[in-house]
Amino acid sequence: MARIIGDQTLETIVFRRAARPPFSWVISISSLPAGTMAIVADRDMLIARYRQPLSEDEFNFRRSQNGTSGACRSSLLFYTGKAMKYDVGIIGGGAIGLSCAWRLAQAGVRVGVFERGEIGREASWAAAGMLAAQCEAAHHPPAGAQSILDARHAMFDLCLQSRALYPAFAQELFEASSIDIELSLRSAPAALSSAEEWREPGILYVQRQPDEWAQNAFAQQNEAGHIVQSAPDFAGHNALWLPDEGQVNNRRLVEALRLACERSGVLIHQAEPVQEVHRRDGRAATIETPGHSALCDKVLLCAGAWSHDTLRLPPECLPPVRPLAGEMIAVQAGRIVDRVIYSDGVYMVPRRNGTLLNGATMEERGFDKSKSEATRTHLLQSACGMVPELAHCEIVEHWAGLRPASVDGLPILGATPVPNFYVATGHGRNGILLTPITAHLLVESILSSAGRKNTKVASEFSIERFVLPAEVETTPPRKESCLSKTI
Ligand SMILES: Cc1cc2nc3c(=O)[nH]c(=O)nc-3n(C[C@H](O)[C@H](O)[C@H](O)COP(=O)(O)OP(=O)(O)OC[C@H]3O[C@@H](n4cnc5c(N)ncnc54)[C@H](O)[C@@H]3O)c2cc1C
Repeated sequence: MARIIGDQTLETIVFRRAARPPFSWVISISSLPAGTMAIVADRDMLIARYRQPLSEDEFNFRRSQNGTSGACRSSLLFYTGKAMKYDVGIIGGGAIGLSCAWRLAQAGVRVGVFERGEIGREASWAAAGMLAAQCEAAHHPPAGAQSILDARHAMFDLCLQSRALYPAFAQELFEASSIDIELSLRSAPAALSSAEEWREPGILYVQRQPDEWAQNAFAQQNEAGHIVQSAPDFAGHNALWLPDEGQVNNRRLVEALRLACERSGVLIHQAEPVQEVHRRDGRAATIETPGHSALCDKVLLCAGAWSHDTLRLPPECLPPVRPLAGEMIAVQAGRIVDRVIYSDGVYMVPRRNGTLLNGATMEERGFDKSKSEATRTHLLQSACGMVPELAHCEIVEHWAGLRPASVDGLPILGATPVPNFYVATGHGRNGILLTPITAHLLVESILSSAGRKNTKVASEFSIERFVLPAEVETTPPRKESCLSKTI
């Protein structure tokens, strides 16, 4: 039973099991008149008292909305009180944080998500939504790890696994949210200007699926020509037909994840920047925001490009990620392009509503999300170089976002040296593609009875790979400029 600390002037104190997850117990004060103190308790200890008198009008209004039942009194206290308790507190409400929250809640875990701004409005909103496991293999940069090839293969496998999870993931998400994330696979030709530039992903691909490679290697002009209607220039390129690549509508994805989270009991706190992860006995224990202090058995950091913010934690558990800016445009193109086209100059992603996304730049410019007229023109010109008809299309949107890029280009997943503190970030150009597998691995890691131990797959992407012997140097981040390098 609860222990009452301090002021005990209340006439009737009723302990109730709270209706919603983070409040284990509330003290329902049945005889409280308007304007008195509200108290929130957690399990067997009173952890917060708030002297936030309600005005009589406000009190009467809430009573008229809710009736006078216990539920009414509880909701009054939810509204007034601020103490929270979660099994897992998640920092960051992008695709990665939300997917982990949803999967954890499905496993019966009490989850709270703390989002600095609005849910899903950063990189996960800015993305193109391509599921380009094979196309993107060309961009997996050499890692600072001992075996570059092993790291690349591990990343390629992770991308393939995640892409394979998407059909079931999209279906389950639809059942949970009633939102169709517009998954479309079997739809991506990659346009090549030379075979040489795709040599590396080609090697990876051949090693795994030699028969398919032989059948599909280079489509000839005619074959490429019917892939894109009215696109004579595209037919002039060699193209690699990648029948399992595709896309989702990433904006619908975050909306679906938000709904699925809410419906499975996740509590989402927007406009709640996490400023500190407080430790007790060396373990992550509390998430601190300007408005809340939430006790958490475990904390998961999914703060995207901001994941290196200190949060007053030791540096070895803060993922070495930086923002990699990208600008994109959307044109009203109807059905001029009807599937994803990936090339070294620009990629094109057609949405069901007739808009066509063209992107994206890669720029090292810190947390600057500004857009430039020069980039807008460059993106349209690059797209017209492949599909000249686009020159007549109106640009309907132009935006910029920040990819969370890790020092070695690979994601950073799982447990950290600080007990009870986990990370899932550094997905760079492939966070939408990697959303299903990341959630799967993190839930496995967080729920594993071994506590701090990462599962086998997650261990390849563990933050501990950055704790290298002093004499081994890590590869510095690649410098890429805006207009010289797109996609
Ligand atoms: C232009 C562009 C195109 C892309 N195209 C693709 C693509 O085609 N396919 C693909 O797979 N990927 C693509 N990506 C990459 C993909 O968008 C990201 O890898 C992915 O969205 C990362 O998700 P996230 O949840 O880690 O980060 P985010 O979506 O950025 O979410 C992180 C969240 O954490 C919040 N946060 C930060 N700090 C705090 C704090 N202290 N307290 C509380 N909240 C905090 C932020 O506000 C943010 O909402 C693209 C990215 C860009 C920019």
